[in-house]
Amino acid sequence: MRRLVVDAMLGSLARKLRATGFDTVYYAAGDDDGALRLCRRQRRALVTADRALASSAVHKGVSSLLVGGRDDTARVSSMVQAANLAGLRLLPGAPRCSACNGRLSSRKVNDVRGELPSSVAALHREFYSCSRCGQLYWKGSHWKKLRSIRRLLAAN
Ligand SMILES: [Zn+2]
Repeated sequence: MRRLVVDAMLGSLARKLRATGFDTVYYAAGDDDGALRLCRRQRRALVTADRALASSAVHKGVSSLLVGGRDDTARVSSMVQAANLAGLRLLPGAPRCSACNGRLSSRKVNDVRGELPSSVAALHREFYSCSRCGQLYWKGSHWKKLRSIRRLLAAN
């Protein structure tokens, strides 16, 4: 499963899941029916911290992953447990834009130098830009944080 809808209140988890390679819609509107409809229409699994919504999803034939915990690391860990219980395989693809879920494409340092602080251009080799919103990424500290999430996903 690579396509997710992440329920309202879990915005920072949604951004991390995108960066890890999940095609993730953040459903900020937060109404249960709308979230379930979106999951069904786009064949996505629901990630929610709302126990009642998670069980109502299951009754309506939508795969759901109930998450808990105080921080995103704990939430990913509980998401992996929920996936294991449900027999769902979490299969992230290439990293996506954490801001908008767009696809990232690789950029050469010379193409992006003008858009970056010179310290960043000097320190990094690999750059990516979002095909949808243009946001630039490089393999910095943010990337390292995602490594721990990938490690947690390996338990799935
Ligand atoms: Zn973007």
